[in-house]
Amino acid sequence: MISAQLIRDGHDPVVLDMPALRAKRTRAEIQAQHWQCKFCGKDMTPRMGAIRAWYFAHKREASECPFEAESEKESPQHRILKRTAAEALRRHFGDQVASLEYEVRFPNIKRIADAVITLKDSTRVAVEAQLSPLTLHQLQVRTESYLSDEIEVVWVFLEQQGGGLRDNGLWDKCREWLLDEGYLVLTARASTVETAVPLPTLPE
Ligand SMILES: [Zn+2]
Repeated sequence: MISAQLIRDGHDPVVLDMPALRAKRTRAEIQAQHWQCKFCGKDMTPRMGAIRAWYFAHKREASECPFEAESEKESPQHRILKRTAAEALRRHFGDQVASLEYEVRFPNIKRIADAVITLKDSTRVAVEAQLSPLTLHQLQVRTESYLSDEIEVVWVFLEQQGGGLRDNGLWDKCREWLLDEGYLVLTARASTVETAVPLPTLPE
């Protein structure tokens, strides 16, 4: 997960997210603090590698965490997609944005959105980054459940290398429906960056 709850003696728990922490705190500072899952209250470990984006993981098997059941399956790719999409939308809405939160639970509809952007006029926009296959019917049901809770939703899809969405046109149908209905849709392009690192010449 991108967000976690910071637990300190004598303070109320506060929810923070890794991108903000990474900009302000060192690895050792983050490691030294006590983190809990904001959904199930179990301890979390910050994972802070040299290459991959930093995140929080449950310390032990978290089979009873609502996060498992109510959000898209967490993978490195999904974390990157939800974060880049949320950041892109924050830029899109510019100074209309009041706040950006990651992993927000809506108990009425039993759903944890990947991110929620709240605008200054109180509009709430859920970000749904979709990597696993979803039928048009499932997408419609989920979209309508957000609307019934007065939350706007922006779907994010990943374009394949070479163009088109995954799963034999299933998602193209979803995207087409959303655009016909007037929704804002984000399509992220997957790209792989390979760099050749020149090795120094060894002395004779
Ligand atoms: Zn949890």
